[in-house]
Amino acid sequence: MNESCIFCKIIRGEIPSTRVFEDEHTLAFLDIGSLVKGHTLVIPKHHYNSLTDAPPEVAAQIMATAQKIAQAQLNGLAADGVNIHQANGRVAGQVVPHLHIHVVPRFKEDGYHWNWKAGRYERPEEMNDLAEKIRQGLKPSA
Ligand code: 5GP
Ligand code: ZN
Repeated sequence: MNESCIFCKIIRGEIPSTRVFEDEHTLAFLDIGSLVKGHTLVIPKHHYNSLTDAPPEVAAQIMATAQKIAQAQLNGLAADGVNIHQANGRVAGQVVPHLHIHVVPRFKEDGYHWNWKAGRYERPEEMNDLAEKIRQGLKPSA
C-alpha cells in the first residue's frame, strides 16, 4: 500500500468509489471521468506503479477480472463491444501511478473514436531491426 496513492485510498475506503466487483486480489470500480458511461477500472489490491512492476500472477489476476467486467458490460449494459486500455508511464498517458486496466463498454452510437493513425514502415529491414531489438529486450540482463 502507498499512503498518498489515490487508488490505494479507494481500496482502503478512505475516499468513495462506485464499486462493481472485488475478489481477494482485485477491485473494479467506475472511472469518474468515463470515456463512455460504465467505463470501469480494474486494479490490484497491492500497489504497483505499472504493469512491468507487477509479477506475472498479478497481471493475470487483473486481466481475469477485466475479462469478467467486459462480459458483465456486454450482459448488463447491452454493450455492443468493449475496449481494453492500459497505460504505463506519463508519456503513455498514465496519470494515476497505480497499475490499472480500463474496461470501456462500446455502443454503436457512443460517439467515441480512437485517435489511432496507423503509420507505415518504409523498409522491411526497419521492421526486422525493431523486432530484433525487442527480442534482445526479452533477455534477463536487458
Ligand atoms: P490513466 O490516465 O492513469 O490511465 O487513468 C486514470 C483514470 O483514473 C482516469 O480515467 C481518471 O478519470 C480516473 N480517476 C482519477 N481519479 C479518480 C478517482 O478519485 N476516482 C475514480 N473513480 N476514478 C479516478
Ligand atoms: Zn496505489
